[in-house]
Amino acid sequence: MPKIEIVKEEESKIIFKLHDASPALANSIRRAMKSLVPVLAIDYVDFYVNSSGFYDEMIAHRLAMLPIKTDLSRFKMREECVCEGVGCPNCQISFRLNVEGPKVVYAKDFISDDPEIHFAFEDIPVLELFSGQQLMIEAVARLGRGKEHSKFQPVSACYYRIIPDIEINEKCDLCKNCISACPRSIFEEREGKIAVKNPENCSLCMECIRSCEPKAIRIVEKNDYLFVAEGTGALPVKEVLFKAITILKEKAENFNKSLSEIDV
Ligand SMILES: [Zn+2]
Repeated sequence: MPKIEIVKEEESKIIFKLHDASPALANSIRRAMKSLVPVLAIDYVDFYVNSSGFYDEMIAHRLAMLPIKTDLSRFKMREECVCEGVGCPNCQISFRLNVEGPKVVYAKDFISDDPEIHFAFEDIPVLELFSGQQLMIEAVARLGRGKEHSKFQPVSACYYRIIPDIEINEKCDLCKNCISACPRSIFEEREGKIAVKNPENCSLCMECIRSCEPKAIRIVEKNDYLFVAEGTGALPVKEVLFKAITILKEKAENFNKSLSEIDV
């Protein structure tokens, strides 16, 4: 049965092992974390005054790239909202700005409709206004998914590698060629034998097998994976992982239901 073992956890980064899973399941979890877990991002911007040196489109693009702290219990996807996609406080939030130069405009200068919802990193500079320049805008954020646009991705990186089973058999003559050949330093000599100290660092380059003259090393790919995911700041990465698994479960249940309804 597939199992998740968390190795290291921070708000913005998680390293975990997925045991006993098929490659399809491992890849589904990776893809769901990147493209199915929704987060808030700026989706359109009204410009009332813009006398800065930047075109409206450039500013709007920069704003869309700013991660927003997202509370998934507070917002609904617009198409699932009671407003039927028109836009209301249940599915969108406004950030207002009215500033004059000389000034560097930071993410923290925007006033949110809800003080609980703000940009994840408030010291990100957006643009610089010189003397006499003014910017008055309203930026509206909504929930979206990474498969629609990368600004809605809750993870900036999410990848895994296979953790192999490295076997050293009795043909080993202790030549130690594998210790010097391995670029990831995964072998060591322990109690007169060659031992594997950290198989999760193996990149499957097979240099150890090439360097071993008696052919004593065997690498078996098991159904274990080491995942690394880094968040954008919109959601804690552990929440992204759990939400991704919940979404996959719902999708699988709906798929099963559809299949069971086929009359054969
Ligand atoms: Zn709504």
